[in-house]
Amino acid sequence: MSTTLSTPRQKHRNTAVSTTILLVLCLGLSPLAAASPPFEEVFTGRALRFDYYHSGIAGEEHISLHRLRLEGSWPGRRSGLDQSTGFGKYRFEVFEPEGERRLYSHGFSSIYGEWETTGEARRGFRRSLHESQRFPEPKMPVELVLSKRQADGTFAEIYRLPIDPQSRFVDRSQIPRRGELWPVFEHGDPAEKVDLLVLGDGYTTEELPQYRMDVRHVVDSLFAFEPFSERLQDFNVWAIDIASEHSGISRPRTDFWNRTPLGLSYNAFDLERYMLTFENERLREVAALAPYDALILIANSDKYGGGGIYNLYSTAAAKSGQLPYLIVHEFGHAFAGLGDEYYTSQVSYEEFNPPGTEPWEPNITALLEAEKLKWKHLVEESTPVPTPWDQETYDRVSLDFQKKRNELRAGGASEERMEEYFAEVKRVTSKILEAEKHYGVVGAFEGASYEAQGLYRPAADCIMFSRNPDHFCPVCSEAIERVIDSYIK
Ligand SMILES: [Zn+2]
Repeated sequence: MSTTLSTPRQKHRNTAVSTTILLVLCLGLSPLAAASPPFEEVFTGRALRFDYYHSGIAGEEHISLHRLRLEGSWPGRRSGLDQSTGFGKYRFEVFEPEGERRLYSHGFSSIYGEWETTGEARRGFRRSLHESQRFPEPKMPVELVLSKRQADGTFAEIYRLPIDPQSRFVDRSQIPRRGELWPVFEHGDPAEKVDLLVLGDGYTTEELPQYRMDVRHVVDSLFAFEPFSERLQDFNVWAIDIASEHSGISRPRTDFWNRTPLGLSYNAFDLERYMLTFENERLREVAALAPYDALILIANSDKYGGGGIYNLYSTAAAKSGQLPYLIVHEFGHAFAGLGDEYYTSQVSYEEFNPPGTEPWEPNITALLEAEKLKWKHLVEESTPVPTPWDQETYDRVSLDFQKKRNELRAGGASEERMEEYFAEVKRVTSKILEAEKHYGVVGAFEGASYEAQGLYRPAADCIMFSRNPDHFCPVCSEAIERVIDSYIK
């Protein structure tokens, strides 16, 4: 999901166009899994990558196999592999051929999953995006299953592929060594730790020493934040030196283009600040050199921008003055499936959360049944739900700021000038939010996930809401801890 900025987009929650997935082969839920077998009985200890194309338009999607690719050692945990956190728009599973036992499962979101909610997809322009799912290499034939979340929160199968991992149809060629792999810090066996891989794009050979310094800045910024700081020992962090022929990454709105190894670029979905790469295969081939559970991509740029998609990667402009916010906020999306709690910024999505459905993100609720609030255990009895706050004042001030920001960008303001603007926004909006009667407590505050009405966030302020605070709200923090646990326990 994209980072905060621009003009507001408020309530338009009832323009529903009901979408039908045409390629649904089976609408039933996955069979209940029997107890998962010991790791060594089923898996070789290496990682297998399923590469495929995800194509379609709004309301119709297709999956087609690209290839199966053998990587290095499986860096994830070795027990409870049939369970996932339950987060994500999609789910990937590995079953025994008869479907009796689920051997492996994880949730994920994807660029395709975001793209299908944009106007481009709704206008019927087809698109194909490359995706990968990594899982431990099974010793015997298995079936790979992709499912998509439905409006009621359950999953419907959209693709099934029987494979024989030991066959000659698996690419077993050596992983190309595109650059030096080095540990930023190492706290133990990758199988027992969360392994982060930080890759840089747009750094020339001469700029690689700068990349190494940027990596440390990124890692220091992330681990200055709780709960990462207190869980530091549960992480390993890796980096690979990859050189670009030319400096910087593509920025189409200023007509700057650079073909970089990872393909990072601004202006994803025509939103200047949204930084993604659509070159998934290139990225995966570079990353395969390292043991990794999560990817952080940094760009050699000072222009504000970033992005983060659950279980895919997070991105950030390494030289932006807002780097600490960018890295923490975007990693919150990519690592823990956290949703954007803000709603006054311009985004390209149309109806990201269909009306009447409960979002899957752990920090966003439609509050369809107040008594079943998913973070109820963190709400004190004395706190009213929904929780009143002065949304009108906040919206008015935000609107003025968005207007100013657009004017600054349109006038080609320097990044220094933008930093002054960010500081002013922080000064003014912090004061407004901190004066709230229920500031600092968990409740359900209306206005979240790109909608001013009908969706709620857990706290008046949080790093997933604004650039103001130096902390996650307790609900986001709890979700992050849950994901850390899922990699190490
Ligand atoms: Zn939060």
